Amino acid sequence: MQRSAEEIKALDRRHVLHPNVVLADHARGLPMPIMVEGQGAVLRDIDGKEYIDAIGALWLANIGYGRKELAEVARRQMEKLSFWSLFWGYGNVPAVELAARLAEIAPPGLSHVFFTSGGSEANETSIKIARLYHVRRGEPSRRHIIGLARAYHGVSYGAMTATGLETVRQNYEPYVGAFDHIPSAYCYRCPLGKAYPACGVACAGELERKILDLGPQNVAAFIAEPIHGVGGVITPPPEYFPRIREICDRYGVLFIADEVICGFGRTGTWFGIEHWGVVPDLISAAKGLSSGYLPIGATLVHDRVYEALGQPEGPGAYFNHGFTYSGHPVAAAVALENIRILAEERLGERAVEMGRYLTERLRRAENPYIGDIRGKGLMLGVELVADPATGEMPADPNVGRYAEARCREHGVIVRALAPGNIIALSPPLVVTREQVDRIVEVLDEAVRYVF
Ligand code: PLP
Repeated sequence: MQRSAEEIKALDRRHVLHPNVVLADHARGLPMPIMVEGQGAVLRDIDGKEYIDAIGALWLANIGYGRKELAEVARRQMEKLSFWSLFWGYGNVPAVELAARLAEIAPPGLSHVFFTSGGSEANETSIKIARLYHVRRGEPSRRHIIGLARAYHGVSYGAMTATGLETVRQNYEPYVGAFDHIPSAYCYRCPLGKAYPACGVACAGELERKILDLGPQNVAAFIAEPIHGVGGVITPPPEYFPRIREICDRYGVLFIADEVICGFGRTGTWFGIEHWGVVPDLISAAKGLSSGYLPIGATLVHDRVYEALGQPEGPGAYFNHGFTYSGHPVAAAVALENIRILAEERLGERAVEMGRYLTERLRRAENPYIGDIRGKGLMLGVELVADPATGEMPADPNVGRYAEARCREHGVIVRALAPGNIIALSPPLVVTREQVDRIVEVLDEAVRYVF
């Protein structure tokens, strides 16, 4: 017996504990669409309503929905070998192939891959490997991880504590370990009260100050998203990461790039950090790695870090870390096929082209409440303000949330980011010009309506 849409919605309210939701709203039955189908950039919900997905679900549906090639690869792999782990030195073929492919597309030197089930686990892994690196090199006091104030790195304890956003961390103290934060490179509202370029990128200098405050002998790593996602699509200026790299090198601190959103074509390149011409020591990846078809993440490890992990040789160098699903063969096979499609269809280039088009269309709308449009490729943020000339915050910062709700009514899914006035746009990279036109038309109307 098939359940009706109304029955499914009632069961959802009764039994499903949703992530990131006001529980009372959900229980009261505020409209929260239940999706049933997707094709390209278009979704259909259980009531038959269609939406253009302007956020790629959670910044991840890079190749778009409904690609049969991935379903076919998953089916074949499940029939052949549904699961075998990489623990204790065993292997499986898709994990090997995927690791080798990632090493090919990664910045030079990042040729060792540890698999996870998602982004938080990838960051946990990067953080643990950074600490282990220093333990192996005889500097076990290097425990501190420095992150950015507007960073989002996930919700497991280490990743959450590395996260700077208070909305994510609140209620869960005491935190684990030694984590510190410095201001983000948020030029539109500089937390240091300066203006670019006269500032000399003083926000990068904050890293050096923090390392010196803590004592370099106590600092393991600096972690940053090349472009903050959840923190507001904040895009640092060109000098930022080269300065960060220099400072890390000066003090023996590892640099972890959290590429969970920025990777796999979303910003136009395989990895977001490539825009700054910098090579990190560790990369955390997930999301676009499989375009969300199956859960998988990875930590990419630079050769020089990897070499230290195995020292000194002998039983002491046992690598005591691993998740049951590290290197799941079906997820790995699907990710490999996803990467093939991204490369063959040049979706990174398409992200650049469509990102430019989307930005241009937004500018042409001359919306009087859009203060800043920023980002790279199809990872864009639109900051809503009371007055673009001054950047004054809206009287009610929740305007973005109201605009999000109105867009949804009109069949376009966007997302408002904290504090509520920043709209994220990250559609599938296969989004069409007509769909972009519609996204802009609906968003422009919604913003004017809510102000
Ligand atoms: N890092 C970044 C930059 C993210 O945006 C996210 C999720 O949005 C994560 C890590 C956490 O990934 P996951 O939710 O797969 O654990």
